[in-house]
Amino acid sequence: MTKSLDFNTPQPKSVTLRDTTAVECDECKNTTFTEAVVMRRVSRLLTGAPKDSYVPIPVFLCSACGHVNEEFIPAELKAESATPSVLVKA
Ligand SMILES: [Zn+2]
Repeated sequence: MTKSLDFNTPQPKSVTLRDTTAVECDECKNTTFTEAVVMRRVSRLLTGAPKDSYVPIPVFLCSACGHVNEEFIPAELKAESATPSVLVKA
């Protein structure tokens, strides 16, 4: 009796451009983006290194208005920027 392990093995799927969907800027519906890098500082107190170190995180921003779509932001950074902002009603 042989036991099939295929169920647990992820099968690589071939994806073509036809299988993709367009990504638009959430703000202005532009469809082109430029790459930018968010720098995260790691305290030397955490690493034990003599200096703080930096972790570059690539993000994509709209080439027309500079907006960064929510879906491009790593979940860890989203949580940080989700601090409530004060809304002032006129
Ligand atoms: Zn935009």
